[in-house]
Amino acid sequence: MTQKQFILTLEGVNKTFDGFKAINDLNLYMDEGELRVIIGPNGAGKSTMLDIITGRTRPDKGKVEFGKDTDLTKLNEYQINRLGIGRKFQTPSVYIEHTVFENVWLSLEGSRTVWSTLFSRITSAQRERIHEVLKTIGLVDKAQTKAGSLAHGQKQWLEIGMLLAQNPKLLLVDEPAAGMTDEETAKTGELLMSLAGKHSIIVIEHDMVFVRQIARKVTVLHQGNVLCEGTVDEVQADERVIEVYLGRKKKAA
Ligand code: ADP
Ligand code: MG
Repeated sequence: MTQKQFILTLEGVNKTFDGFKAINDLNLYMDEGELRVIIGPNGAGKSTMLDIITGRTRPDKGKVEFGKDTDLTKLNEYQINRLGIGRKFQTPSVYIEHTVFENVWLSLEGSRTVWSTLFSRITSAQRERIHEVLKTIGLVDKAQTKAGSLAHGQKQWLEIGMLLAQNPKLLLVDEPAAGMTDEETAKTGELLMSLAGKHSIIVIEHDMVFVRQIARKVTVLHQGNVLCEGTVDEVQADERVIEVYLGRKKKAA
């Protein structure tokens, strides 16, 4: 039997900050094309896990592998990004003085600096690719709008589009629904679901309505370790999850 091929493997990963174990013997396996949702109380180690995957933080020990045999612990942030791992932080970082179209243009694979890009001639292939990205994120009619005047949700979608322009294999998205209206949240869910399959995606989220909308498999992190994994219904019914979120044990009758 051939061994199953994961796009991402974390095994026995540990990270201590000043004696505090932020990540504690963490194991996580992701299938290619999977949309995985990670939940867990504040301080559970969710963002630190993303920092480790993207090379921002080095683990003390453990295996962090991308695909079959790329050891991410040996690479820096830039190299990891070039491999096709894109991360979206909570606060959008778009070029507010540039149009939506230009923002995506600036993010295309191979694009260099703002100056060299915007003063070079755009190719028809680039134009098509940008249009495709704008269609995916639902901002075609905002192409010529300055990014600074977009609504909060639209800025977040633009930033996802800027990641998509680099055609990442793995997308890491930290709390995309934070600060969004219900309608924006639902649209974000649809967008992420439409990207799954073509990309592997890790979404960290608190909003359980949103989690329920998008999740197939949920991983619950607690004290730097996987507490449980399963469907939304399974993890919400799990005694250990109820205990860490609500801080209580069900009393024996
Ligand atoms: P989450 O994203 O699940 O809320 P974090 O990964 O941000 O949790 O943090 C996990 C723990 O690690 C927290 O107690 C946090 O204070 C600590 N931590 C994270 N990054 C650092 C750092 N660079 N230096 C010191 N402590 C850190
Ligand atoms: Mg966090």
